[in-house]
Amino acid sequence: MSVVADFPTNEITPAPAWRTSPPRSNAEIRVPRMHSSESSRALLGLLRLSQTAASELNDGTADATFAGVISKSVLRSLLGTLHHRHYLTLRHSRRVALVAFGLANHLGWDGRQLRVLEVAGLLHDIGKIGVPDTVLEKPARLSPDELELITLHNNVGFDLLQACRVDRQVQDVISQSQQSYCPDLESRDQTLGNELNMGARILAVADAYDSLATEQPHRRAKSHQEIMEVLTEGSGTQFDANVVSALARWVQQDGPPLASAADDDLVPTSNGPIEVSEADSIGLIFSYLHTVERLYDGFHLVDTDGRILIWNRRAERLLGRSAEHMLGQRWSGDALGYRHLNESPMPTAEMPMLRAISTGKTSLMSMLARNANGQSVQIELQAVPLFDEQGKLQGVAEFYRNLTDDSGRQSRSFRDLKLAATRDALTNVANRRELENQMNAMVTEFNDRSREKFSVIFADADHFKRVNDTFGHGVGDQVLIDFARLLTQETYSGELVGRYGGEEFVVLCPDTNLEEAFRRAERLRTTLRKSKIGGIDRLRVTASFGVAQAEPGDTVDSLLRRADKALYKAKAEGRDRTCSFTTVDLLNADKPESKPAPSANPFLCETRFTAIVASDMVSYKLGGFVNDHKAKLKTVTTERVVMLIGDTGLLASMNPFNREFALELDLALDGLADAIAKRGVPRIQFGVTIRPHRRVRNSAEFQKQANRLITDLKRYFVAE
Ligand code: GH3
Ligand code: MG
Ligand code: MG
Repeated sequence: MSVVADFPTNEITPAPAWRTSPPRSNAEIRVPRMHSSESSRALLGLLRLSQTAASELNDGTADATFAGVISKSVLRSLLGTLHHRHYLTLRHSRRVALVAFGLANHLGWDGRQLRVLEVAGLLHDIGKIGVPDTVLEKPARLSPDELELITLHNNVGFDLLQACRVDRQVQDVISQSQQSYCPDLESRDQTLGNELNMGARILAVADAYDSLATEQPHRRAKSHQEIMEVLTEGSGTQFDANVVSALARWVQQDGPPLASAADDDLVPTSNGPIEVSEADSIGLIFSYLHTVERLYDGFHLVDTDGRILIWNRRAERLLGRSAEHMLGQRWSGDALGYRHLNESPMPTAEMPMLRAISTGKTSLMSMLARNANGQSVQIELQAVPLFDEQGKLQGVAEFYRNLTDDSGRQSRSFRDLKLAATRDALTNVANRRELENQMNAMVTEFNDRSREKFSVIFADADHFKRVNDTFGHGVGDQVLIDFARLLTQETYSGELVGRYGGEEFVVLCPDTNLEEAFRRAERLRTTLRKSKIGGIDRLRVTASFGVAQAEPGDTVDSLLRRADKALYKAKAEGRDRTCSFTTVDLLNADKPESKPAPSANPFLCETRFTAIVASDMVSYKLGGFVNDHKAKLKTVTTERVVMLIGDTGLLASMNPFNREFALELDLALDGLADAIAKRGVPRIQFGVTIRPHRRVRNSAEFQKQANRLITDLKRYFVAE
């Protein structure tokens, strides 16, 4: 392919004029602007990382690189980041590299191939720097959602490796090792005489070896003998039989591979630990790439010489042009087939890239591009100029979404179609229907226990009517666009941002408890109040936030209602603040007297509380409570439920070390029978009486346990 050198080669620092009076035509007012300061920082960091990596690789001296496979300083930064994010993953990676290296060495590999494999071992888990600890350290099997999350992060990891100019063979060894070994492919691969593929098989065995040898949250470490049994069993299906038997021979000769490596030698890299700020910077780049992976179908980055520095995997897929081919080429809109939607040619000066450079602002356009096979792809392209701290242009990023509606041809993924139907037209974030669908799924998973926790943040712009009244609806719209963008860009952990209506937004936060969600809302709030928004210098917009965490038995409605109540409180207390509510807060706020009244009998605990709850939900919620506490039901009528909770066995009560008593919970349900008859949403009075199941001595301990049980019970009922 010939890439025409039509990128302007003159110094492309923008004329200062644009900064004092930015051109603002009506057509531009709705253009969503890509960057907040955070995302500019991430993009600049990415550009610099890539430049450093490229220049060190070009330098080519043994000091600067690992046999030309990766720049040493970049390797150190990546491993240092892994060290800061997940120390245990770094140690695992070092051991995997050690085993893979030793095994390949034993097989007679040397030189560059050996280095490729070693680096692949070191970086095979780099995607984990973006995976939340709650998932990595989960003491149980991962849910399909969590596995998908890890796959997404692995993809982001590949984009990071590519940006770091890590040799493509390293990336291929890693990605092939993550696919299950399939012996059917063996004959085909052998005809290719492909060491690469062999590298992936070695890496897969080394990875499994170390995972099995290490204690995991959900199982103990296995001995060398046990590991060899597992590997031999999977030999020929999950693992390459030749690699497994080579491992057996190697061990026979030299002993178990990890025994010789004292753990502490493996921490973290030969050149010592890196700065925390460097790790933070790569962490920021990673989360930014994660957002890009979720929002766009591809992106590339061009430096001020017009050279392509980054060409990500999704760009490869969408435009059918490999990174290997594109990196280092001069960007050319003509070569990429940029044209108007009606097929008419687009003069270079009209292209978003050039407009971004000349105006210093993001430029967005729906247009055509051509893929490597000559087919047209309809894209929405956003060109974002990158300025350094001194305001000097350092490069331009082009992000694109596939607009071609060619589901018939299947080149457009289901995900994209779904995205198109689920976005809010003005702000491009999820629309209300999508928000409710996603939330519904999350609530269902939460109630059937396949999801551990999640929270919602409700945000509402303050005095937004005044913005419209003072500056007009166009500026109002731009404020909403900017606000939505800020919410999207300032959240990195798989949150879903949606427009609930008007100037109200909701952020769904998976794997997030109330405290974390509160902190996140506060961060969003302070970032917003510091941001220039709506394109008007003197305009400052604030918002109020309400936060709630999903509780057992919640519905979409009850959860949103709680967040909305918190938002209402934030407004009532003066706006520009965050409030949160739990069901228990709401109960206590409304009924301070509902605290368990001290009982005359120290071995009896009694209280009453009220909940407004649909009658058919009562049995559902009680069912959840009974299940979760493994309670034994003694009596169940519409007026009264009695259950035993805890180990009721005689032995348990005689065991002096057993501090958990078995308790009898007697629940009077006033108003339920009435409500069932009328099919209304009733106000139900719960009368709670708790007694020890057997005689106990320690009344204080009994009261403590009984009160804990009452708090827990209240959580199951969304009360007013
Ligand atoms: P508060 O601090 O109590 O939230 O005050 P507020 O003015 O923000 O709240 P109110 O609900 O009274 O007004 C919301 C305004 O948002 C009214 C409506 O005209 C405006 N609005 C709703 N949707 C859009 C939109 O898509 N574009 C614009 N420009 N304005 C909108
Ligand atoms: Mg408002
Ligand atoms: Mg409102």
